[in-house]
Amino acid sequence: MSEDSAPLQHPAYKVLRRVTPNASVLLCHNPGPMTLDGTNTWILRAPGRKESVVVDPGPDDKGHLARVAAAAGTVALTLVTHRHRDHTGGLQRWEKLTRSPIRAYKHKYCRGAATPLRGGEKVAVAGLELTVLHTPGHTADSLSFLVDGGEGPGALLSGDTILGRGTTVLDTKDGTLADYLASLDLLTEHARGRILLPGHGPEHDDAGPIVEGYIEHRHDRLEQVRATLADLGLQAADAKPMKVVKRVYADVDKKVWPAARQSVKAQLDYLAAQG
Ligand SMILES: [Zn+2]
Repeated sequence: MSEDSAPLQHPAYKVLRRVTPNASVLLCHNPGPMTLDGTNTWILRAPGRKESVVVDPGPDDKGHLARVAAAAGTVALTLVTHRHRDHTGGLQRWEKLTRSPIRAYKHKYCRGAATPLRGGEKVAVAGLELTVLHTPGHTADSLSFLVDGGEGPGALLSGDTILGRGTTVLDTKDGTLADYLASLDLLTEHARGRILLPGHGPEHDDAGPIVEGYIEHRHDRLEQVRATLADLGLQAADAKPMKVVKRVYADVDKKVWPAARQSVKAQLDYLAAQG
C-alpha cells in the first residue's frame, strides 16, 4: 500500500475518517485535558444510504459544524450523548444548518418534533438499528448507543461514559459513582465483540475488555481511597476531597487534579452512603 492510500489514523483533524462500514468520525479541533484530542462527531449510515445520523455535533465551532454538515448529507436524525458543552455547544448552529431533529435524554436539548430518548428504546434510521442505553454516572443524562445493521460488526457508541484513552471523570453536579458502576455493569452485558466508538480518543476493535478494565480501575481507585482514609484516620463523610487526591493521584499530571477532585468526591459520597 502506498503512503497516499494508507488509511487515516486517529487523531485526524478536519477530514472525515471511516472507522467501520457504518460509522465515520470527524474530529473537532478542541483538544484539552478534558477532551483528549478533541470531540469525536460520529456520522452513521448504512452503506448505500443517503441519509445519515449524526451523534454529538460538538462545540460551537463554525468550521467543524460546516464540515460535519457537508460530510453528513441528509441528516435524518441528530443524537446527543450528554449535556456537556463540548458535545452540545454547537446545537443551535447545527439545527439552523441542517434542520435535523435532535434527540437527547434531556428535553432541553431536543429540537423539532423530537422527544427525549429513553433507555431500551430502539430507533431504526439510515439503514441501521440503534438501541439506546441510559448510562448515567459521567453525567445523569449520559447515553450510549448500540449500532447494529448495515455491514460489519456492531458498535458501541459510548459518549464520555467510556473514552478511547484513559478514564472518564464523574461530573459531581449530577453524576454519581453508584450510577456509574451500574452503567458499567449494563455495558458489560453488551460490549463484547462490538467496536468501541468513544466521545473522545481512538476507537477500539473490542469494547468488552475496555469496559472490564474500567470496572477494575474504579474498584482499584475505591480501594486506594479506602486505604488513604484509613491512613489519614478519616471517615469518608469527613474527608476533604483534595487531601485524598494529593495521595491517590500523586502519579497523575496536576492539570487533571481538579477533575480528579470530582471523581474523589464521587467516591467519598459513594463510600459515605455505604456507611
Ligand atoms: Zn462529558
